[in-house]
Amino acid sequence: MCTDHSNDCACQRQPFGFSRRGFLKAGAAAGFLGGLALPASAQDKMPTPNSISPDEALKRLMDGNARYVANASSNKDFSAERAARAAAQYPIAGLVSCADSRVSPEICFDQGLGDLFVVRLAGNFVHEDGLASLEYGVKVLGMPLIMVLGHSSCGAVAATIKVMKENIVLPGHLPALVDAIRPAVEIAEKANPANLLDAAIAENVRYNVDKLKKATPIVSEFVANGEVKVVGAVYDIASGTVTLV
Ligand SMILES: [Zn+2]
Repeated sequence: MCTDHSNDCACQRQPFGFSRRGFLKAGAAAGFLGGLALPASAQDKMPTPNSISPDEALKRLMDGNARYVANASSNKDFSAERAARAAAQYPIAGLVSCADSRVSPEICFDQGLGDLFVVRLAGNFVHEDGLASLEYGVKVLGMPLIMVLGHSSCGAVAATIKVMKENIVLPGHLPALVDAIRPAVEIAEKANPANLLDAAIAENVRYNVDKLKKATPIVSEFVANGEVKVVGAVYDIASGTVTLV
């Protein structure tokens, strides 16, 4: 463990400071990663590649989606910068995405390795473990944006609607998934939409965006001070288009 924080110290050059957003100030974390942590004063002078505004991060995602839709995704050399990636990560956005095999955020947004910090599970809802991951992304990795990304033809949302309408019980752990999505479906139902599935998919996104904005103590704080934005979007599988909701 490095204890020498002079300018030439190797740990000063190590870009993975655990206190990128002042985690050391919280005190308790100081011992957690020990030598990886930099003095807060040193880190404040080190702009990182993801030190961009939430709006700029969102623009990069939407521009990347436009390239993907136009089948003009950028050519990527995945062998390049492997060593740099081994040393640190600077994601520009956290994603809460469905596990659906047809939805792949890095491809849909034409982003490279290290650009997106993705939490995926069927139904793209926020649970405690996922929230903890996002807290890490915001507080430690410094990502300025979180996007909840639903998608068309979501089987998890469709299954929840079916369970609610037919009063059936799914096997295994699937009821937990239904319970998590049910509140959004109930909200969508009240509007009596022409297409309940599409409405519930969008509502499930909005429901979880709202949940994240209020997620104390970490995400809510960064949202309140403007350092992080939480947005919602739906990916259309047929066209490839991502639309903010
Ligand atoms: Zn899905």
